[in-house]
Amino acid sequence: MIIDSIKDEFRQIVGDEWFLDTPEDLVVYSYDGFLPEFKPSGVIVPGDRDEISKIMGVANREKINIIPRGAGTNICGSSVAREGGIIIAFHRLNKILEIDRESMCAVVQPGVVNADLQKAVAGYGLMYPPDPASMFVSTIGGNVALNAGGPRGVKYGVTRDYLLGLEVVLPSGEVINTGGKALKNASGYDLTRLMCGSEGTLGILTEIIIRLVPLAPARATLQAIYSDLDDAATTVSAIIGSGIVPATLELIDRTVLDVISDYGGARFSKEAEALLLIEVDGEESLVEAQGKRIEEFCKERGAVQVERASTPEEAEKLWQARRTAFGAVASLRPNCIVEDATVPVKMLPAMIRKIVEITKKYDLKIGVLAHAGDGNLHPLIMTDLRDREEMARIDKAMEELYETAIGMGGTLSGEHGIGIAKDRFMGMEFNEASIELMRGIKRVFDPNNILNPGSFL
Ligand SMILES: Cc1cc2nc3c(=O)[nH]c(=O)nc-3n(C[C@H](O)[C@H](O)[C@H](O)COP(=O)(O)OP(=O)(O)OC[C@H]3O[C@@H](n4cnc5c(N)ncnc54)[C@H](O)[C@@H]3O)c2cc1C
Repeated sequence: MIIDSIKDEFRQIVGDEWFLDTPEDLVVYSYDGFLPEFKPSGVIVPGDRDEISKIMGVANREKINIIPRGAGTNICGSSVAREGGIIIAFHRLNKILEIDRESMCAVVQPGVVNADLQKAVAGYGLMYPPDPASMFVSTIGGNVALNAGGPRGVKYGVTRDYLLGLEVVLPSGEVINTGGKALKNASGYDLTRLMCGSEGTLGILTEIIIRLVPLAPARATLQAIYSDLDDAATTVSAIIGSGIVPATLELIDRTVLDVISDYGGARFSKEAEALLLIEVDGEESLVEAQGKRIEEFCKERGAVQVERASTPEEAEKLWQARRTAFGAVASLRPNCIVEDATVPVKMLPAMIRKIVEITKKYDLKIGVLAHAGDGNLHPLIMTDLRDREEMARIDKAMEELYETAIGMGGTLSGEHGIGIAKDRFMGMEFNEASIELMRGIKRVFDPNNILNPGSFL
């Protein structure tokens, strides 16, 4: 519980209307994309960096937990008040401050929605590559704090690869700047990268400088259907192994295709066991040659149907199945748990086989959606959180899934983060010395442990 006089102090900083604590407000901010409910004591919506600094000053003095929140779309439970406290939301800080064409970068506030930034920079012939499927709602602040990725990750990398600099309010209320607009920077410890993926536990991002790249002049989009999941998986490693770097290389398995068909997203033939959605971009002649080569690869490895879009509208149609997948799967049962196991690309076929085995062993309904080109798998577990017996089986299945991924040289998370969804598995990937080092970093930034406590550490 936070006493009224402290709430009044917060109200004085941001103004009455920007401190929310009606029962309805608290319910809304009790959830993020990772289902369980944690009710905060209030929600504060600052209008600028100085207000954030003052808020942190009060919180640090009174040892009140502060939990940063963008759009709340994360699926690891890292933007809810697990140990109580106040949510700090950034929807007022949603301005693109500068697009610098000459330096190929942009300066943005944390609450800017990813797709709004994509649209704005496209007007300058530029692209911001990280494209999480949640891009129409998720914010750049949330993307940086979780090092978000997306379909284009296979060629362009993830959020971390486009981060040049930050303005950060520390838990003490002090403000620091890291990096800058320069493309190269070898000064001191790389605090910019340390903040990226820190899940809101080290500081509050108030300004973000991101690198941009030229928009590719041409692209080719192909869809290949397979009657054997294994053939689709081996095509992925064959394409990557050939030296072609597609912009995207996505895989959808039969379970998810069926759900998409039932949902009305798109129709697939009965023999379809898997679908690959492949895109290459670059100069026209290169795209043409790579498109042809990929078409051959797919056919040589057993694709029963390969379709290539010849207009942007046709390309959009091919993307439709992938875009509707999450919504379709979420409609099937009350809950859907999205996993994020990631393995080296050559291990992809073996990992997919393992997921099929785990599905049968634990008698679960699991579909596979994968950013296959970079080995990032999203097994989608369709379930009902109220079914305790099934949840116990899911817990065992998850443990086996992540043990396998790590045994293959992979990781617990390719792009979704750890949060409370996977904190119990950290010991699989890190030894005690590494975890203690991370705890030490947290103590240096936040000695009172007020910023997003109870997260992955
Ligand atoms: C349908 C769907 C599809 C998705 N697809 C993808 C995908 O393709 N790739 C992917 O990577 N993820 C995906 N996600 C997960 C999620 O959208 C991303 O993790 C996204 O980056 C979260 O952004 P957000 O604005 O919603 O942040 P939130 O969920 O609100 O917060 C995420 C984290 O950022 C911290 N945070 C937020 N703002 C700040 C700030 N200003 N300063 C410090 N910390 C801050 C929070 O404390 C929290 O730890 C998907 C989620 C859904 C529901």
